[in-house]
Amino acid sequence: MNAILISKTGGPEVLDYQSIDQPKPGKGELLVKMQAAGVNFIDIYHRTGLYPKELPFVPGLEGAGTVIETGSGVKDISPGDHVAFATVPGAYADYVIAPADRTVKIPQDIPAKQAAAIMLQGMTAHYLLKSTFALKKGDIALVHAAAGGVGSLLVQIAKLCGAKVIGTAGSHEKAERVKSLGADQAIVYSEQDFEKQVQELTGGQGVHVVYDSVGKNTFEKSLNCLRPLGTMVLFGQSSGKVAPLDLTIFNQKGSLFFTRPSLFHYIPDRERLNQRARDLFHWLMSGDLVLHIDQEYPLSKAATAHEKLASRQTTGKILLTMDD
Ligand code: NDP
Repeated sequence: MNAILISKTGGPEVLDYQSIDQPKPGKGELLVKMQAAGVNFIDIYHRTGLYPKELPFVPGLEGAGTVIETGSGVKDISPGDHVAFATVPGAYADYVIAPADRTVKIPQDIPAKQAAAIMLQGMTAHYLLKSTFALKKGDIALVHAAAGGVGSLLVQIAKLCGAKVIGTAGSHEKAERVKSLGADQAIVYSEQDFEKQVQELTGGQGVHVVYDSVGKNTFEKSLNCLRPLGTMVLFGQSSGKVAPLDLTIFNQKGSLFFTRPSLFHYIPDRERLNQRARDLFHWLMSGDLVLHIDQEYPLSKAATAHEKLASRQTTGKILLTMDD
């Protein structure tokens, strides 16, 4: 089978398209013939070594496909079933070994590509809005990189929660997309001072919560956008790591709450994985959530997909697709 193999960390050029042995499923595992794998920012962190992994490895955590074979002890999934996953290593490959308890069955009405595209970023938006800071009607949320993969889902689900949403984006074109997703306001933060804009838009009150995935370039101003007792959710670092800081800053800026969450802790078992997936699939089928698959590349072009994502040339989702 073909797969992308990383033998040393580095730039997109280390994503090596190779022929490797097809794995066999062990106890509790599935052999999945992949239809599509999602490309996510975490794949870039793994590739560069920012998040260390043992070498060599096949990158990717997200995807969807058809079960070809099941290992012993798998009870409720059979060959022929369509499944998707968000946290299974090795997704950039024609075939993947997935622990059954980390997969969800895809409802019949949802194409595999859509399922692959919603899993990781959708689960992330779901836990951030439903669990990390349970957003409610009347709350005001600031969402950075709101035209991106997680961002575009955060905007839509935050509106489903009844909140007011201010989104930021790196270009006017992206800001238009953010508005079309339902955001109440969109700020082009590459040109405008988003802190000043947020203060103006909230009558100097500030927002209840900031969902910040950009990190280094936005963190400090994001804190200044919060009202007293507001919550800072730093969930990524697309522009780089936030520098170490003096914790008294959270007192000085209004007894703020701070968290640095990770998806893995919010889907620790199959029950919670299924609960979140059920909501996402339901919203997709009802049309409440609209997925934008911006770019698709064959598996062999994974490097191009990484270049586009890292250089801010994408909105919504990027997929790698496998040959039939
Ligand atoms: P996105 O589609 O959001 O792409 C990243 C976006 O970040 C870019 O399009 C760009 O949007 C913005 N950005 C701002 N500054 C930079 C920069 N210097 N370099 C690159 N991009 C920049 O990616 P994902 O949806 O895959 O991931 C978004 C973030 O969420 C990542 O930081 C990721 O690590 C994090 N994440 C965290 C999870 C968790 O559980 N903690 C789970 C999943 C994702 P613009 O041009 O509009 O500024």
